[in-house]
Amino acid sequence: MESSQQFSLQNNNSFNVKAICPTIYFPKSLTDLKQLPDLASENFYILGDGTNTLFIDQQAPTIIKPSFTGVDITETADSYIVTVGAGENWHQLVSSLLEQGIFGLENLALIPGSVGAAPVQNIGAYGVEFSNFCIQVKWFEFVSKTVNTLNNDGCQFTYRNSVFKHALYNKGIIIEVVFSFPKVWQANLSYAGLNELNENATAKAVMEKVISLRQAKLPDPQLLPNAGSFFKNPIVDETIFTRLQREYPKMPFYPQGKKQVKLAAGWLIEQAGLKGYCENGVGVHEKQALVLVNYESENGQDIVALAHFVQQQVLAKFDIIISPEVRMLTSQGEQDFADLVIK
Ligand SMILES: Cc1cc2nc3c(=O)[nH]c(=O)nc-3n(C[C@H](O)[C@H](O)[C@H](O)COP(=O)(O)OP(=O)(O)OC[C@H]3O[C@@H](n4cnc5c(N)ncnc54)[C@H](O)[C@@H]3O)c2cc1C
Repeated sequence: MESSQQFSLQNNNSFNVKAICPTIYFPKSLTDLKQLPDLASENFYILGDGTNTLFIDQQAPTIIKPSFTGVDITETADSYIVTVGAGENWHQLVSSLLEQGIFGLENLALIPGSVGAAPVQNIGAYGVEFSNFCIQVKWFEFVSKTVNTLNNDGCQFTYRNSVFKHALYNKGIIIEVVFSFPKVWQANLSYAGLNELNENATAKAVMEKVISLRQAKLPDPQLLPNAGSFFKNPIVDETIFTRLQREYPKMPFYPQGKKQVKLAAGWLIEQAGLKGYCENGVGVHEKQALVLVNYESENGQDIVALAHFVQQQVLAKFDIIISPEVRMLTSQGEQDFADLVIK
């Protein structure tokens, strides 16, 4: 199996901060996976393209970077069944399926990262989630050294969440994802911005619109390092929502059922007066307050310090705790944001 020692991860994280790992493994077959050392007692991290990962310490733990490739397409009478290796790039998959006349993922265009990471947080955008089309996830379990197949229910997908963040966390590696796309396609134009399109819009038109909306709002990590939405949109009880709405009648909100309401974390940060705020070479993006950007720091700790400050300001103003969507990695492995101590 391909591997490397003292590997610099600066080009493998979209915040472009400095980090070095003692060893990185690039498994791309079942044989490779079976050769991985027993990492149960060692600190390690599974890294896709690092677009949702913040390296906080300059020393990272051992890294496993799944490098399974390939896209296989078969047909049933009414659907396309597409099996994709975890190491494939998400946006390239979306574009290539669209070119082949297989529609469904166009609302998820331009989301950076690997296919293998997509189930972990059930990526979503513009009214569509990964879970809408995923029928199976193939997952290599470290202990039994076997490949298990989880169906959609078994993945326990919810908003930015799945079983891979909980019961199966660090117990194995996603190696392949299987989708089913109905041949009869209907554009999903429910989300703000897309409803400007004609209801007969083609999948290509939807994808182009999604790309132009994203490019207008989100900074390109290649030009201004960032990890997209830094915080998750908080989901609060109706009682809290009612109290806030009385005070802020213009506050955006998205009812979730079960007496719960999702609020827009970006709006909360903006109202806390932090849009465009900068300190120590990092800042809150001037157009989209949900995105923290790295202007000139090489140190992940600067971003954590800013994130703590943003969280405290929002708490002080609204009495709501916003939590990061981005995964925090220290030399001791992944850690909870609440437990991080800034050195
Ligand atoms: C500009 C920008 C815009 C973004 N927009 C969106 C958006 O609209 N919607 C959205 O949902 N996200 C968005 N994101 C976040 C990011 O694109 C997704 O979270 C993406 O899935 C991360 O992929 P990655 O390969 O870079 O994951 P990484 O950051 O490498 O890893 C993320 C997590 O997945 C785990 N993981 C990765 N691969 C595997 C595997 N094969 N097996 C098991 N675990 C694995 C890692 O251990 C880690 O916990 C955005 C990010 C950026 C930079």
